[in-house]
Amino acid sequence: MWAELEPVGRSERSGGYRRFAWSRADHDLREWFAAEAARRGLDLTEDRMGNQWAWWGDPDQAVRDGDPGVVTGSHLDSVPDGGAFDGPLGVVSAFSALDALRDNGFTPRRPIGVVNFVDEEGARFGVACAGSRVITGAMTGRRARSLTDADGTTMADALQAAGRDPHQIGRDDETVARVGAFVELHVEQGRALVDLGHPVAVGTDIWPHGRWRLDFPGEANHAGTTRLEDRHDAMLGFAGAVLAAREAATTHGCVATVGKVAVTPGGVNAIPSAVTGWLDARGASPRAVRRAVADVRSMVEQAGGVVSEESWTASTPFDAVLGARLQTVLGDVPALGTGAGHDAGILANAGVPTAMLFVRNPTGVSHSPREHAELSDCLEGVQALTTVLEDLAGAQGPGAGGRA
Ligand SMILES: [Zn+2]
Repeated sequence: MWAELEPVGRSERSGGYRRFAWSRADHDLREWFAAEAARRGLDLTEDRMGNQWAWWGDPDQAVRDGDPGVVTGSHLDSVPDGGAFDGPLGVVSAFSALDALRDNGFTPRRPIGVVNFVDEEGARFGVACAGSRVITGAMTGRRARSLTDADGTTMADALQAAGRDPHQIGRDDETVARVGAFVELHVEQGRALVDLGHPVAVGTDIWPHGRWRLDFPGEANHAGTTRLEDRHDAMLGFAGAVLAAREAATTHGCVATVGKVAVTPGGVNAIPSAVTGWLDARGASPRAVRRAVADVRSMVEQAGGVVSEESWTASTPFDAVLGARLQTVLGDVPALGTGAGHDAGILANAGVPTAMLFVRNPTGVSHSPREHAELSDCLEGVQALTTVLEDLAGAQGPGAGGRA
């Protein structure tokens, strides 16, 4: 599976991946997912947002029986020039764990699903976890349709170009109700497991995080003939905001990043008439993040700019009972919180009992081609996921990861 995925959406220049929602690469990844499901005789369904679900067993019968299924999986899209593991490791491990269960002669008492969430990174339309947000109602279909990429293409247009009906997208309670428990395996995006000397951890929570757009107006003019005192240079306010974000994060004890900027008209010899930048801020404490963003906002407004919140996700604890259960069946594994957002967090916020497994990343680097995981650690991850699924899909009674 890994070898098949390797070339899809890979940039020759950077060696990283450019797998954006509803692009050609995304289409190929979806076809790959469908083929893997078909190869295993799983029932493939798509929900109202186009997330793909491959089921072993009948998820609707399980809902009628009051004991909905166990779902694992992740996403296949990437950030610009992202690594190979963020997302795909969870999907490949899910299929591998299912194969291991079958090889072991395991018969699930309740169905097991593998999911590929669409548009997790938000690399194209700016909102992370769009696939899970829409089906859980955390983002309306209307808002999703109107999101726009850097080329001015709306998500509605992109869906249409991909042969889909944009008006279909929206909240999908029926799909969410099929998920009795969700366990997402993911490559670790920091160095905690390297320091702890463990290949796998159980996730405890996701830090609160958000994205803000910073718009600075200016006036285009000639870079050679316009006196400094006559300029209205949008870049100066933006530059101040970048420095303010760093200072605010240090002051309040969180992290803040400005990693994307669009300059109009974007000429070396033209004074910028508009600069838009995007701020990402996260931290263990939501108050710290809010305070840091408030500092940036006041600086931006003083410079004549505008701050708009594009997304905010509160601190998300994973299901404590489910997490404890994973720790029990896996034995000696550390528990980790994370500053990275995941579809697992969106489902947890929607009331689905949710847990995560993290696999060691020796570089500690993610969202970059340097992201890595050793094969032996990936296999440890598959083993852990297999053990967890066997427990959750085979066990009965309270604490079996079922909805209360
Ligand atoms: Zn991811």
